[in-house]
Amino acid sequence: MIVIGGGPSGATAAFVLAKAGMSVLLLDAAVFPRDKLCGGLLSRRAEKTYKAVFEKPWDPAIEFASHGAVFFDGHSKIQSVEHVWPTYFTSRTKFDAHLLAQAAAAGVVVQEQRRALHVYAPDSRVQAAGGPDIQADFIIGCEGVNSPTARGVGLPPLSRRRLAAGLEVHIPRDLFSRQPDKPEIYFRLAEWGYAWLFPKRDCVTVGMAGLVQKNRNLKGNFTRFLSGLNGGRLPEVRWKGHPIPFGNYRARPGKANILLAGDAAGLVEPVTGEGIAFAMESGRYAAQAILAAAAAGRPDSALSRYLESYSRITALFRQARIMRHLVFQRLTQPIFLRVLARSQTVATRYLDLLAAEIGYGEYARFLAKVLIRRFLV
Ligand SMILES: Cc1cc2nc3c(=O)[nH]c(=O)nc-3n(C[C@H](O)[C@H](O)[C@H](O)COP(=O)(O)OP(=O)(O)OC[C@H]3O[C@@H](n4cnc5c(N)ncnc54)[C@H](O)[C@@H]3O)c2cc1C
Repeated sequence: MIVIGGGPSGATAAFVLAKAGMSVLLLDAAVFPRDKLCGGLLSRRAEKTYKAVFEKPWDPAIEFASHGAVFFDGHSKIQSVEHVWPTYFTSRTKFDAHLLAQAAAAGVVVQEQRRALHVYAPDSRVQAAGGPDIQADFIIGCEGVNSPTARGVGLPPLSRRRLAAGLEVHIPRDLFSRQPDKPEIYFRLAEWGYAWLFPKRDCVTVGMAGLVQKNRNLKGNFTRFLSGLNGGRLPEVRWKGHPIPFGNYRARPGKANILLAGDAAGLVEPVTGEGIAFAMESGRYAAQAILAAAAAGRPDSALSRYLESYSRITALFRQARIMRHLVFQRLTQPIFLRVLARSQTVATRYLDLLAAEIGYGEYARFLAKVLIRRFLV
């Protein structure tokens, strides 16, 4: 059994398989602990999935927790709420190393600096840098957006039209102009996306993401946002960018005995941009599908088994894709923001959604009622 990629999806899949007694080899191009460009927001959904899989508490990897959020329209604050469910903030260097260490302790053989170059689907073989080809009964591709596993099973690259670009910087607290203790979400600074400021223990993470095709000048907007946040000065820290499969999921995440999970399957939520929870969730589902296929002696049935649980995630994403028209569309976004500014409940229910305490259908129905009350009654 080969898992390619040791991020949240790969570490989760490998852990579940090893715990069930499978012999698992995990290949990663990097050496851990390694950085990964990410806001590091962990929702209660992520917490639930983590707890359902892993045995050690996640506290050593958590840097900050907050019971609220502040929302902005441009640079103007429009809403601030307290919330029952905390959101957590991590550094991906710590979080991913924490997950991978548990996978290794469960028996997964981790080979670092081992980049997968090609996956040959017909004989389930991986060509990886620094060693001979490896053959296995099952492969899970968890290597992010640029997935050789997806290529190997003949899937096209994720559509550029639906990819977002994310830009981000970590600013040490002592270089920042104030000391935030709640996540801040900024609408209307990026098209079909948003900007954020997330509090961590020693730094604040500031980022901006939006659909590539709608944001010709994301870098310029991000520079202005950064200097605006910091009293007109640009902090002297390097920022980086990375593609995000923003609501760009794959309908068929693999082929027969070769599966895809996390970003490789395109599983980033289309409204919030949350990906870690869905990476862990899909990694777990892929592992469970493989265990069932192996137990039935039908390796080729892994994909059809995986699709049963995978479709629970994609059903959510389909609803979120509809909702994002209300949140990001030029005509409707001002209405959404007006309602958000006037109603604390719209904001707290949004955080309920992020915490997986309510579903998209319920949130959409709730929003529709609020809109009717505000504008028609
Ligand atoms: C700017 C930005 C901000 C974000 N903020 C958040 C956030 O706050 N909260 C949230 O939930 N999500 C966020 N996301 C999304 C989140 O980062 C991803 O959805 C998540 O990392 C996906 O996990 P993964 O395990 O699928 O892939 P990754 O975390 O990308 O892990 C892939 C692993 O595969 C390895 N790899 C890559 N190619 C190969 C190869 N060929 N061979 C072997 N190994 C390989 C890499 O070294 C890496 O370790 C953000 C993304 C971006 C870009």
